Amino acid sequence: MFDLEQLIRPNIKALKPYSSARKEYAGSEGIFLDANENPYGTLNRYPDPLQRELKGALASLKGVSENDIFIGNGSDEVIDLALRIFCNPGTDNALTFSPSYGMYDVSSAINDVELIKLPLNETFQINLETVSPYLTDPTVKLIFVCSPNNPTGNCFLAADIKYLLEHFKGIVIVDEAYADFSDEESWVNRIGAYPNLIVSQTFSKAWGLAAARVGVAYANTAIITLYNKVKPPYNVSQLNQEAALKALSHRKKYLLQIDRIKEEKQQLITQFNKLKIVEQIYPSDANFVLLKVKDANAVYQYLIQHEIIVRNRTKLIDDCIRITVGTPEENKELLVVLKNCLNKIK
Ligand SMILES: *Cc1c(COP(=O)(O)O)cnc(C)c1O
Repeated sequence: MFDLEQLIRPNIKALKPYSSARKEYAGSEGIFLDANENPYGTLNRYPDPLQRELKGALASLKGVSENDIFIGNGSDEVIDLALRIFCNPGTDNALTFSPSYGMYDVSSAINDVELIKLPLNETFQINLETVSPYLTDPTVKLIFVCSPNNPTGNCFLAADIKYLLEHFKGIVIVDEAYADFSDEESWVNRIGAYPNLIVSQTFSKAWGLAAARVGVAYANTAIITLYNKVKPPYNVSQLNQEAALKALSHRKKYLLQIDRIKEEKQQLITQFNKLKIVEQIYPSDANFVLLKVKDANAVYQYLIQHEIIVRNRTKLIDDCIRITVGTPEENKELLVVLKNCLNKIK
């Protein structure tokens, strides 16, 4: 049986959260002499600490309750707060699969939480046999599941994620940073079915707002209440909230961009197939493609010399580079340089 109360760190359970001025009086009309703000200006007032307008827009877009949404200063905050709420530093563990997103490592290390990393199989899927012993280990509090996975690009099998959700006594965070590029059903639609599920999404990729820093967590109200308890009072600036709202109001534009990016990705894959330097193209549900090439370090350096910057992932997966889909012009240039590359490197 899943028992949320028992999972929460004792100090977080006992915590009396900070009560900000805008939390104690949430109305928008009146003479505000409560928060020591400068009465002049346009950005002079503290933002809504609960980002209710943005949550309202997301709630109707996703078909969930506003109470089941947390907005973070990027997904980084969604990840960090989960570690802080559930993992006792120095004693508890988190778990993920390898290769995957590097922030799970860094954020765990900052919180003095050991991250157990289980290798994915040869098709970059979860090996349920190797995870099984950890699912009942009381020191493992969190599992990070990045689907579509960065840097491999594939989605994990829904049946495997379901297995984790149904057999793990802790929290499963499904990181859907790239879900907008995938045809797989989002796990946001299933938060009602799983009390231990957190789904993390972001405005940084498909919504084109990496500079704004807006991440979103969807989960049952009980978990969101914990997030609200520990988050910094005004964690999402007024500017960020407005940028996200504006993007949501232009949804059609982003859907068209996503279509264009997906189309360009297919074109790129077709062309990559013709390149001698490319040894393997991994299937991608995201806006990037992982390639195995003859010599990743040499290819990476050659591309840099031609002012094309890709991600060298050879330390994670031998001779692999990760290439983000750009504009048609950018992709064309990439292909020209990659074509010349073979003759120039040894
Ligand atoms: C890019 C990315 C994010 C986004 O992080 P933000 O802090 O929201 O910009 C989250 N998870 C994964 C796996 C990513 O690749």
